[in-house]
Amino acid sequence: ELVYDLIIVGGGPIGLACAIEAENKKLNYLIIEKGAIVNSIFNYPLYMTFFSTAERLEIGEIPFNCLAPKPGRQEALEYYRNIHRYFKFNINLFEKVLDVKKENKLFKIKTDKQNYESKNVVIATGFYDIPIEMNVLGENLSKVRHYYKEAHEYAFRKVLVVGANNSSVDAALECWRKGAEVTMVIRKNEINNRVKYWLKPDIENRIEEGSIKAYFESNITEIRENEVEIETPTGKITIENDFVLALTGYKPDLNFLEKMGIELSKDELKIPNYNSETMETNIEGLFLAGVVCGGMQTHKWFIENSRVHANMIVDCITSK
Ligand code: FAD
Repeated sequence: ELVYDLIIVGGGPIGLACAIEAENKKLNYLIIEKGAIVNSIFNYPLYMTFFSTAERLEIGEIPFNCLAPKPGRQEALEYYRNIHRYFKFNINLFEKVLDVKKENKLFKIKTDKQNYESKNVVIATGFYDIPIEMNVLGENLSKVRHYYKEAHEYAFRKVLVVGANNSSVDAALECWRKGAEVTMVIRKNEINNRVKYWLKPDIENRIEEGSIKAYFESNITEIRENEVEIETPTGKITIENDFVLALTGYKPDLNFLEKMGIELSKDELKIPNYNSETMETNIEGLFLAGVVCGGMQTHKWFIENSRVHANMIVDCITSK
């Protein structure tokens, strides 16, 4: 039976970067991706703009052409598709990895289609598949969304946007500009400092002039078909509502990591145990790459600072 040198779980930018390195070092590798190639980016809001400039999203030293200062989702999809056209990865799309287990020095990888064996495994599964829930009554109503695609369906409707990070601010501004009546519910007393520098003054000015209503230091307490209850510093209020965009963040599949035997820190950050020079976890031959490394700190790693994981991992494998 075929035994791979390396199986890469996840075909995001960092999984692909690992494959490029594996190919450079002539390792026999396979990428297994549960969706389309760069599936997280495919699921981004349709008109989103990256906070990174194009060259910071590059992998394999292939230039990313972009006329505007920052690329958008569509250009990034084009770029990573071209990366695949160039490198012709050994990749299985629409195949989900269910289990990774080490037995007698070899990893057994079980997917929803078949089983594989590999000497080494990289987990590059990102963080965009599991929304962080608010745990409030009514969250399961169909008008509550944890992913935002585009504004059109919210036009001329009463939309509540939860959160004050990039996703929330992007969605609030876009919906307001397409004619939605937008209210924001923000846990802290300010817009997050990580919000793209060209959008922060925009949202703050819209709030100040009253175009977008914002409740700071507030939380949703219940969602009903036509209204939402909000706990504010001056007491509980009820507002009319058609849609809730609960853009409260996402988290990596930490159960998946724990099931493989990867240790997580005991605090609320749940940082996986790995060697920061080799990216190898507490299980020899099992590596982490990309955003998944941060545990609940999903803002720590992004494309430009985690593409180097590919090098570190393949160096470690080839030096053994
Ligand atoms: P991902 O791109 O998330 O890739 C993980 C892949 O693994 C996915 O394709 C997923 O389908 C697959 N997968 C998961 N589980 C399994 C499984 N069990 N079996 C098989 N496949 C699996 N970063 C930047 O650097 N710059 C930006 O401007 C930027 N903007 C962002 C905007 C938004 C709206 C969001 C949500 C994130 C943004 N990020 C940005 C963060 C960005 O998502 C990550 O930097 C980047 O996608 C990380 O790549 P990755 O390969 O680690 O993870």
